Amino acid sequence: MPPPVFRFAPSPNGYLHLGHARSALLNFDLARASGGQFLLRIEDIDTARCRPEFEEAIYEDLDWLGLSWEQPVRRQSEHFDLYRETLVRLDQEGLLYRSFESRTEIARLVAERDTQGRWPRDPDGAPLYPGAGATQSASEQARLEQSGLPFALRLKVEAAMHQAGHLTWAESGEGPLGETGRVVAQPQAWGDVVLGRKETPASYHLSVVIDDAVQGVTHIVRGQDLFWATSVHRLLQNLLGLPEPAYRHHALVRDESGAKLSKSSQSTAIRALRATGLSPGDVRRMAGVEAG
Ligand code: GLU
Repeated sequence: MPPPVFRFAPSPNGYLHLGHARSALLNFDLARASGGQFLLRIEDIDTARCRPEFEEAIYEDLDWLGLSWEQPVRRQSEHFDLYRETLVRLDQEGLLYRSFESRTEIARLVAERDTQGRWPRDPDGAPLYPGAGATQSASEQARLEQSGLPFALRLKVEAAMHQAGHLTWAESGEGPLGETGRVVAQPQAWGDVVLGRKETPASYHLSVVIDDAVQGVTHIVRGQDLFWATSVHRLLQNLLGLPEPAYRHHALVRDESGAKLSKSSQSTAIRALRATGLSPGDVRRMAGVEAG
């Protein structure tokens, strides 16, 4: 068996906090214990929100924590061509459509649907797509595209699931309700997810599955907040003929009020903790990861 490959894949849109420290340390320790590799990937497809100083801070904070990683670091912003080509392929297979409604229009449609009984939400609480894209003819889609309107490329989730058949994944951590073992993927819970946009030919879901495959990642260890995203990832892996990694979703680090940490909660930023004089070992303990 080739050695396992783990990765930590932060987005440089804020400073890393204790939750990131937990993911990074778990991946690093598991890689070391199994004689595997630990990769770092910078998930910076959202060029409007990602900033070079946050990327620099990621390297600095991880280095301070005592981690080292393989070089070169993969940066998603350098691979838009690959994501674009993959979208073209899915589109040619008839698995995508374009949705032209603006965010405001979508919000209005959802509010309207909500008056007729609550319109379904995805596992993150966002409303499923309520627009007309799925039912427009090919010629109507082409006409709207030629008019120059911005659009999102969405996966026809029902058709894709039909093509893929029954999908599961091996979970060695657990989901929000303790799901573990072989978990049944339920990509339909996300509706027709956005896989790219006219101006950004990639989404988190698309780039993450492509990069995990390109980098040969065998084990994905990440926060429980991404547990149900795995349903979409398994579907895309199947459609694109990519290997199935093993998954382990870990419990999130929470603040005193029980809320999930976010990049705006400055007090738990690794660099803020470091500035108070804490050691890397202290931060490791606060992140709930036993010394590796
Ligand atoms: N880039 C994602 C984040 O910062 C994590 C991606 C993943 O681990 O799959 O939340």
